[in-house]
Amino acid sequence: MTSPVRVRFAPSPTGFLHVGGARTALFNWLYAKHTGGKLILRIEDTDKARNTVEAVQVIYDGLKWLGLDWDEGPGVGGDHGPYFQSERDAVYQRYLEKLQAADAVYLDDKGSTRFKLPRKPIVMEDLVCGRVEVDRSKPINPLGDLEPDMTIRRPDGSWIFHFVNVVDDIEMGITHVIRGEDHLSNTPKHIELYQALGATPPLFAHIPLILNRSGGKMSKRDQGASVQQYIDDGYVPEAVANYLCLLGWSPKDNREKIALDEVASLFELDKINRRNAAFDPDKCFWLNGQYIQQMPLERFRALCQPVLEHAGLPIGGFPNDYLDGVLASVKEKIKLFKDLPAWTSYFFTDDFPFDEEAVTKTLRAPGAPERLQQLAAHLETLPAEGWNHDAIEAAFKDLAAQAGVKTAAFIHPARVAASGRSVGPSLYHLLALLGQEKVLARLRAAASK
Ligand code: GLU
Repeated sequence: MTSPVRVRFAPSPTGFLHVGGARTALFNWLYAKHTGGKLILRIEDTDKARNTVEAVQVIYDGLKWLGLDWDEGPGVGGDHGPYFQSERDAVYQRYLEKLQAADAVYLDDKGSTRFKLPRKPIVMEDLVCGRVEVDRSKPINPLGDLEPDMTIRRPDGSWIFHFVNVVDDIEMGITHVIRGEDHLSNTPKHIELYQALGATPPLFAHIPLILNRSGGKMSKRDQGASVQQYIDDGYVPEAVANYLCLLGWSPKDNREKIALDEVASLFELDKINRRNAAFDPDKCFWLNGQYIQQMPLERFRALCQPVLEHAGLPIGGFPNDYLDGVLASVKEKIKLFKDLPAWTSYFFTDDFPFDEEAVTKTLRAPGAPERLQQLAAHLETLPAEGWNHDAIEAAFKDLAAQAGVKTAAFIHPARVAASGRSVGPSLYHLLALLGQEKVLARLRAAASK
């Protein structure tokens, strides 16, 4: 019988959650969901200088935003804690003693503790990258140097990543290590440590690198590299998570939009692509638009509400029907939620901004104030209970026919007068939503300005 799957995401808090890290977390999460296993979050914070509360919070925020929950770790607890490496010194001490007892370590002339690499070949089968072989008895360069013994502890007593990473994976019962390919070359050393500690190594799956547009390894500075940026720009979390799935995995049927639950049901480690994944911010943006267009209004509202509240718009003072009407009118237009207040503020306040260019071009055009006055006088004749899209449309057309001009001659100034902008939802719809009283007041205010 195979033991239940236990995977982990083991970020070092750098103050930044990189899409590469988020994708690693996601693939671990998918595999845990696929197998009914557990995902452990372990914070690799042995670098004291970088170890701040804020830096860890960035990781929690990013994972939570993406919808990735963990079964054991900070905030959740579990039987294998503490889940911060900075609190596990006694564990590392105990494992160091095991290596000392096995005569597998020594102090070098600088006072560092080194692990004696076994001078023999080592072979590993990576679930994604295939077979990796190294032979420690062979030189690593033409000068005849052997791979130096691995440092596991510095003279100041601080621990080196390789050692604590392996110890924790043993102690936390990790069955599968899923991580970035940048760690592949470390893995033979890790396996040698497992063997020296008498532990069975987990299975390894190293996932391909993410490349930026110029084909280099995606770095912190590349566009789209920070998960926080997606949060700030107002992306749809499930769209970004979906996009991250496609970096090294695909459903093999050309679908791009695929829900996380379905990915989890299909997700197998040996189906991860070996080739590096090219990061395409435009595709992520496109996918985001697909999600917005296709999501139910209820989900759209849930994403909009906090953004509108944060912008200080008093949406709570309006009936639900009105809010839903407003949101439905812009759902096809919004690409990023950070744009939402600009698209909708005039629905919730009379103190909305006017776009300078639109004012100059449309409201200050010759004849515009007169047209707005005519329009207000005409729309005022509509009975309050007949204030709807079709009646408003008919009124505009009548008026244009009487004046012998195109309807657009009324539409453009009316839009700017009512909303401050030259773009927005269909005008008749916009006016119907706003209500007769507000519309008349805004048309007249703009005419007399
Ligand atoms: N702290 C390491 C990193 O962030 C973890 C590597 C691993 O997953 O084993 O790269």
